[in-house]
Amino acid sequence: MPISNTIQTKSATKGMLRSDKAYYVLVLFLVAPLETMARARSAGCVILPAFNRMSTTTMSRLCADSQKLAEFLDGCKNIVAVTGAGISTESGIPDYRSPTGSFSRGFKPMVHDEFISKPVKRSRYWARSMLGYHRFSRAQPNKGHRALAALENDVGTLGLIISQNVDGLHQRAGSKRVLDLHGRNDRIVCLSCGLQIPRRGFQAALEELNQQWVRQNVPATTLEMFSDGDVDLENAVFEDFAVPSCKACGGVLKPAVVFYGDVVPSAVVQEAFAAVDAADAVLVAGTSLMVYSSWRFVLDAAKKGKPILVVNQGQTRAEREGVPHLKIEKGCGEVLEGAVQALLGSRVEQCEGK
Ligand SMILES: [Zn+2]
Repeated sequence: MPISNTIQTKSATKGMLRSDKAYYVLVLFLVAPLETMARARSAGCVILPAFNRMSTTTMSRLCADSQKLAEFLDGCKNIVAVTGAGISTESGIPDYRSPTGSFSRGFKPMVHDEFISKPVKRSRYWARSMLGYHRFSRAQPNKGHRALAALENDVGTLGLIISQNVDGLHQRAGSKRVLDLHGRNDRIVCLSCGLQIPRRGFQAALEELNQQWVRQNVPATTLEMFSDGDVDLENAVFEDFAVPSCKACGGVLKPAVVFYGDVVPSAVVQEAFAAVDAADAVLVAGTSLMVYSSWRFVLDAAKKGKPILVVNQGQTRAEREGVPHLKIEKGCGEVLEGAVQALLGSRVEQCEGK
């Protein structure tokens, strides 16, 4: 039986969210903040709705998508989420492949070998990254990040987030079990001795060393930010940009991220495969899955017959390669929030009914 049929049959027999009463509870809790829902769960309280915050049309459309996701998640005991740039766009960080994404604006990601072997490319990377980092690091977690944190901490069924993002927003939203597949942009690593340092001090050193370079090379206009936190700046004299070396050994410093052409550490890959193996379902949120480093985990889940649901705007590799899955063609924030609120709501309802 196809996976989608299996899921629909399971949900239909369960019936909890399809009943009139449960649907009303879903509508109520779609408009209450997650924090309120969490408190309600622990206190066993009922929360009153705020119907005037959404139009009827918006609410019914959101209800359908959130209900579909809630039905998928309901009953799962150990979910693995695979997330990508699409979950952070609502935090102001551009994605790669959407019509307004970084690739459509001419962004070319840093390639690992070029960073290692070409000092000018390295200087260009650090110059653009220094200029974009303030905006990148000020981004705040959005509804989608907070919903996944609540799925772990309050619903208790999210086993691991495999994130392709380097922004750390899952952790700042409260998620504890996060595998940063491609590393973190707020850490720096020495390519010679392996020393890791926080970005903050390195960023300050970059700015201190390059005050004159900024005056001579950076226009007064606001520069567009790309997915990796760098900005769209060309025609600068990157040869004159100064980059500090490792204080311990004098080696070359690199952000602790996996550039294109580099490999994800094998321990990280094994941990992700183990989590998928132990999971009973996979939720894909905000990624086209075009990059193999994340696609392999979804493919592995499909081969093992695990249900897969994708929340993403735009075609994904799962569609292109005919891998069975459910799809919600939407942005992540409100759909994830609504679904998790519904799950918490049904739990409050179950508690109330005892
Ligand atoms: Zn070093």
